[in-house]
Amino acid sequence: MSQERKSTLLEAVNRPGRTVPFPRSESGKALYPSEIYNEYVFTTKDISKALPKPVFAEFLKQKRGHQNLSKATADAISHAVRVWAMDRGATHFTHWFQPQTDSTAEKHDSFLTFQSTLGGEYAAIDAFSGSQLLQSEPDASSFPSGGMRSTFEARGYTVWDTCSPMFIQPGPNGTKVLYIPSVYISYNGEALDEKTPLLRSCAAVSKASVELLSLISPRSVTSQSPAAQVTTTLGTEQEFFLIDRGLYSLRPDLKICGRTLLGNLPPRHQQLEDHYFGNMPSRVLAVMSEMELELYRLGVPLKTRHNEVAPAQFEVAPIFEEAAVAVDHNLLTMEVLHKVAHRHGLKALFHEKPFAGINGSGKHCNWSLSTDRGENLLDPSVKPETNYRFLLFLVAVLNAVHKHAAVMLASISSASNQHRLGAHEAPPAIVSIFLGTQLNEVLDSIEEKRPIRNFSVPQFQTVKLGGTVLDLKVSTLPHIERDLTDRNRTSPFAFTGNKFEFRAVGSKQSPSFPVTLLNCAVADSLREVTAALIEAKGDKEFPSTQDQLNVVRDFVIKSKPIRFEGDGYSSDWVEAAKKRSLPNILSAPEAFGELLKGPHKELLTKRVPIFSEPELNSRYHIMMERYEKDMLVESKTLALLVHSHVLPAAFEYRRLLGESAVALKAVSVTPTAEINLLEQTSAHLAGVSEKLKQLEDAIANLEEGGHGVKGAFIAHDVVYPLMDEVRTHVDALEAIVGDKFWTLPKYTELLLTV
Ligand code: ADP
Ligand code: MG
Repeated sequence: MSQERKSTLLEAVNRPGRTVPFPRSESGKALYPSEIYNEYVFTTKDISKALPKPVFAEFLKQKRGHQNLSKATADAISHAVRVWAMDRGATHFTHWFQPQTDSTAEKHDSFLTFQSTLGGEYAAIDAFSGSQLLQSEPDASSFPSGGMRSTFEARGYTVWDTCSPMFIQPGPNGTKVLYIPSVYISYNGEALDEKTPLLRSCAAVSKASVELLSLISPRSVTSQSPAAQVTTTLGTEQEFFLIDRGLYSLRPDLKICGRTLLGNLPPRHQQLEDHYFGNMPSRVLAVMSEMELELYRLGVPLKTRHNEVAPAQFEVAPIFEEAAVAVDHNLLTMEVLHKVAHRHGLKALFHEKPFAGINGSGKHCNWSLSTDRGENLLDPSVKPETNYRFLLFLVAVLNAVHKHAAVMLASISSASNQHRLGAHEAPPAIVSIFLGTQLNEVLDSIEEKRPIRNFSVPQFQTVKLGGTVLDLKVSTLPHIERDLTDRNRTSPFAFTGNKFEFRAVGSKQSPSFPVTLLNCAVADSLREVTAALIEAKGDKEFPSTQDQLNVVRDFVIKSKPIRFEGDGYSSDWVEAAKKRSLPNILSAPEAFGELLKGPHKELLTKRVPIFSEPELNSRYHIMMERYEKDMLVESKTLALLVHSHVLPAAFEYRRLLGESAVALKAVSVTPTAEINLLEQTSAHLAGVSEKLKQLEDAIANLEEGGHGVKGAFIAHDVVYPLMDEVRTHVDALEAIVGDKFWTLPKYTELLLTV
């Protein structure tokens, strides 16, 4: 092992642990998580306490989208939140927004300001006005805009998103900053961020759902008014790796690209399946609990934590929330995890594929729709076969994903997620839906107009844990209720009991865009279902249950090709999917292109116009540009690593072998082993230099520019495969070259040290 690697490894192994005690009350009692929860959040309740009743009522009306916020209300809230925040140590405020970079952006301004006094002097005071709360104007010229605005008209506005609460985050020296969740729009009101389209899509899905609900459960029938609003609910399961920060810092590829561009797996990695749900390493557990503590204070309801499949891989999941808030909270989770890991000498890797050959990371987006009465519209209840409301919403989702599978794929494609999609351990690039045996039987029976075969009363479906082999029952184990769906880890989009789980979403990306596009497709599909119901009911005031069943049946038949229960990783599925005309798009740039194609473009700009045409075009250009830039950064980093680390190590090793061979020959010993290794080393060195030359030519061509969107295709079709070819030779060299010459920490150290 090289000296530097060795000393870094020793440091990693001996790193002292850090623990932060859970806070206690003055009487010394450990506080419950629920007592810490929201400590740093200016909640609606805080607002209500600070405002006179009529002013608060006005604020609520605004929040529900019924009216604009008046200046007086904004002034009252801004004053209250400043006092609240400053009492807790805040010195600055920031509009916190989500540009199209998958991360968040912030610019801090101090509360300090000058006020002129009667004597003509200026006095320093702390102030925060309503207009400062409502909007600010960061220079927009340095954020991606995809040609939406040229730099000379660089105005962009961040505007407070009243649906997501304000909060404070600790800064250095015990000071804090007030965060104002915001949207980010251009001078002309075009969306420059991720959140604006998400909010638009949530409104669209709400409106379409309410229309459908009013048709099937009118007040005259149910005596209850149908829902006035339907919320998109979202729970994001976040996967990530945690590795030692010292070792990480010796890997330029991890630092620059977030993933390793070379390296061989150790002989034992995840084959024994002993990491998943295993005992959490204590350093990791310390990070998790410190992170949870901070996130509870910030109002992020983290619920679950566990080891994932690959060594050094973990997952956390929150309790689901309204989509826009859940997105804010997912981004906050990633930020806080990053910071806390740092304090523990660890590095959190959010990249979808930091290590080749073992599992990558996803962000499972659990998605459903809930009425303002708190009913989950995708809850099948006891008898799904007669729950028409559930069935209508279910087929609307099936139909939406079937019609716009390519859009769903575009929403999750990137230079980093491409290593997961279509690879062997992850959902394939073919988008299909898994429903589970029972729901499939329900839909099949409806399609075939026959009684349902089994399962009709699922709540009585218990699993006998004791088993009945030889009539031996372990009577101490209780009977448990069986879930309505079994599990299928290979499906990119699965129904899991009372929600859909979009699993193909990348771990690094913001969940915003995939949820936005899903909402959009579902809103359109719900309207299609509503139109079919209106047609089916004819002159009647409301559709009968038979009308509803007929509509369900039509949609079951129409959307059948999207349903797939088998193994999504198998090659048979690729063939079968082709016959079903399901798109199997393996290239990210090609997937992005789908957004601009006929029915998809019509969906996004006309049918459910969450984007104007220029907005959609700009998104497409940003995605293409981003892909090309990411690939350029990676390929240049690979070239750099080969030149500065791999080649010197291999040359040194070869020289030693040569010298040894010469010395042996001089004493008449045939240097068979040396010659053998010399030949192997030389062959791979020749391979590396040939492929590296080709890669560098391709990089030079891309850097010359002028390719427009073709640049992304060149990056995918030429650069990407060449990187793989270079890597094959490099990894072969890593396996041959003496360990003491190798300067880059190997997978064994990176994955098995935590
Ligand atoms: P599973 O193990 O099947 O994935 P979990 O109960 O662990 O299910 O839930 C995973 C995630 O799904 C959690 O974040 C949870 O809050 C979320 N979730 C549960 N119900 C809903 C729902 N109705 N809408 C959105 N997300 C949900
Ligand atoms: Mg899950």
